[in-house]
Order: sequence, then structure tokens, then C-alpha cells
Amino acid sequence: MKDADTDRLPYQLPFPPEAAAEIVVPDAVPEDERVWVPQAEGVWFRPLCLSASQGYWVNVLRVRRSGILSRHLHPNAVHGFVLKGRWSYLEHDWEATTGAYVMEPPGETHTLVVPEDVEEMQTLFQVNGCMIYCDPWGKVTGTEDVFSKIAMCRAHYEACGLGADYVDRFIR
Ligand code: FE
Repeated sequence: MKDADTDRLPYQLPFPPEAAAEIVVPDAVPEDERVWVPQAEGVWFRPLCLSASQGYWVNVLRVRRSGILSRHLHPNAVHGFVLKGRWSYLEHDWEATTGAYVMEPPGETHTLVVPEDVEEMQTLFQVNGCMIYCDPWGKVTGTEDVFSKIAMCRAHYEACGLGADYVDRFIR
């Protein structure tokens, strides 16, 4: 075969049998309000990848209230990409604005704040391991991991009529 023919040829061998299926979410920021899972007053998340096998999750966080959202410790790195609005941490002098990428290193404890004049913020986060919520002196007040996120999704999708198994498409 000529090079021109092989260039456009799909990979001809099977994928490893243990490899998980890909996830494609055309509406990563969904129109259907039911897809947003309520997290707290004025706070929702939209699951994209819930990695039960590796212990991380990727979601869009949507916040429609201002002020202090949470104080938390990250034992593992977090990656964030701001889709809409602005936010900051009390512990840092920078502000994450629309289009910004943020890497939160392991060991960080920070307090998330959304400014008064922001009606809505949306940020895509990959959270590895867990979130450990705490007071200003590190006393733990709660935790979240991929399994608690999955449980929240299941309960919400069941209640809103999408069905508890709607979450399965995001789990690997
Ligand atoms: Fe954080």
C-alpha cells in the first residue's frame, strides 16, 4: 500500500481487552437542568468522569452564590479550568478568571471565595483522591471522594427522573 493509503487507515489491531471504554460528553455544560447534581445551596456539579478504578473525578462545578464556599485540604493535586466567572482563595493573592488554568498542589488547604459581583461561576475540576473539609485550624469537618460523588449522582438522578443508572456512563 502507498503511504497515502496507510495514513488514513484506522489502527488495525484490537484494543487491550482490559481497556475501559472511552467517555464522550457532547454537552459538558448541559442544557438539561436535571444533569446538574445539587451539592449545597447555590452549588451544583456536573459529572464528566468518575474514576472508581483510579480514585479521581472530573466535573464542572457551578456556583450561583457569592462568599465563602468551603475550606478544604487536598492530599492530591487538583487541576482546574475556569469556564465562567471568577473566584479566589483567601490564602492566595491571585484571582482565577474565565479562561484560567489552576493546579492546586498536594498539601494545600484553602478557602474558596466567589466575589459579590459574580452571578455564576463554572469551573472544570479534576480532583484526585479526596477533598477534606476543615476549619481554619485543620479540624476535619467532612470528606468527599469519587464514591461519595457517585452516590450523590445516583440519588439525584433517581429523584429527578433520569434514573439512578444515568450516572453509570461516567464511571470507569
Ligand atoms: Fe481546592
